[in-house]
Amino acid sequence: MDLFHYVLIWVCLVGLCLGSFYNVVILRSLSNESIVFPPSKCPKCGNKLYFWHNIPVLSYILLRGKCYFCKEKISIQYPLIEITTMVLFVLVYLKFGISWTTLFMLFYVSGFLIMTVTDLKEQIVDCNIAIAICTVALLYAFLSGGVEGLVSSVLGTLAGAVVMEIVARLGYLFAGTRAMGEADTYVAGALGAIFGIHMIGWVLFAALIASMIFIFPMFVYRQYKSNNKLTCVLSILFILSIVVFKALWQNFWMLAILVIIGGWLAVSVLKGINKEENRTYLPYVPALVAGALYFIFV
Ligand SMILES: [Zn+2]
Repeated sequence: MDLFHYVLIWVCLVGLCLGSFYNVVILRSLSNESIVFPPSKCPKCGNKLYFWHNIPVLSYILLRGKCYFCKEKISIQYPLIEITTMVLFVLVYLKFGISWTTLFMLFYVSGFLIMTVTDLKEQIVDCNIAIAICTVALLYAFLSGGVEGLVSSVLGTLAGAVVMEIVARLGYLFAGTRAMGEADTYVAGALGAIFGIHMIGWVLFAALIASMIFIFPMFVYRQYKSNNKLTCVLSILFILSIVVFKALWQNFWMLAILVIIGGWLAVSVLKGINKEENRTYLPYVPALVAGALYFIFV
């Protein structure tokens, strides 16, 4: 077997094992427990797990998705995260090969994955992960690009954080509250450190597109569930007018109508943010991560 395939197998195994560890990090950062202690146990019956209950993916299949002791269902989240980590690791390896860049990229995508899952599940994001990514990215910028690289990375951090913070605070204008969580500012800063001042604008733009694709349907569904019919109809109208009537953008009046619908929608969305207690923020970290992954891999 040649070196490439030999390393590939190791990348898969390390991805699976780290994915298993990230499950613990995700679980503990949601429940605010220490990462290393206590040793892994069943969240339902509290029994300590045997070592063979901790083998990534394989254990889930052997135990048929149930706790060995109390037969409580084990969340599909565990094997899914292990497999996702492995896939991300393999993609990074295929893209960057055997290099220092690969190690740094593995670190970034790991942080991305953890923050995305906690944001999606409970709208909690550990800002320390974003800060760690930012620090490592600044180091990489200096090691690979010298002082010039470092300057671009620092400026990128500032630009990313400032732009995201301005967008978040625009919420005060309409709703008297932030439009996005503070974590989004940290994550945008970290992305600025990775991509530098010349690229961060494009990454944020890609994130905006991603947020429309992923978050919008979620938002419309939530509006529908909470009986906000007007916002619901406006959202669908807005998307339809963008997707279906793209050709009409050339026409000034059509464009004017689109802007009016969009503005009306924005105001009603931000008013809605004010009313929905606890459900204030839409998870935006997944969109930022999608934008970053796009520029890393494509
Ligand atoms: Zn159990």
